[in-house]
Amino acid sequence: MNTMKKSKDNLLEELELGNKEYSKKNKNIFKKFIKGQSPDIAVLTCSDSRVIPEYIFNKSIGDLFVIRVAGNIALDHSVIKSIEYAVDHLKVNYLIVLGHTNCGAVKASEESEDKNEALLNEIKESFLYDQDNHFRANILRQLDMIPKRSEIIKNKINNKKLMMIGAIYNIKNGMVDFIID
Ligand SMILES: [Zn+2]
Repeated sequence: MNTMKKSKDNLLEELELGNKEYSKKNKNIFKKFIKGQSPDIAVLTCSDSRVIPEYIFNKSIGDLFVIRVAGNIALDHSVIKSIEYAVDHLKVNYLIVLGHTNCGAVKASEESEDKNEALLNEIKESFLYDQDNHFRANILRQLDMIPKRSEIIKNKINNKKLMMIGAIYNIKNGMVDFIID
């Protein structure tokens, strides 16, 4: 029995149709960005299919430099390097660490007892930052750790070229709460 949710043919047909609509709808926007991009904001967020930064902030092509990884953590080299690229080459002035309620990665960390699982462990480390709200804690730790993991990012912050902002997206109503300390 085929256990796929959709057959490959149906899926490709649906994607092709969707892509045609997208291409048509945005045809006047593409030419603005053929030579390059110059977004003002970088967003580090979760891979969760319910969390779509461009939709959430009503933004479009060229507006946001988005890095998505389960649990929105900047732990490995490729994530840190992606942020550094945005900060150093694209000169973004803001980095939003956008977590969300009901994050599966945070929940898995709460349940996991495996200390060798890097992603879950990184999130688990955050629980000290806010013992009552682990979704918020996970964001607070990233705000703290990202400059410690990157000289480039730390220097940009110290020179007032970059501001990091934490935010939580509520999957129940689509609202974002910015974390102001
Ligand atoms: Zn998540």
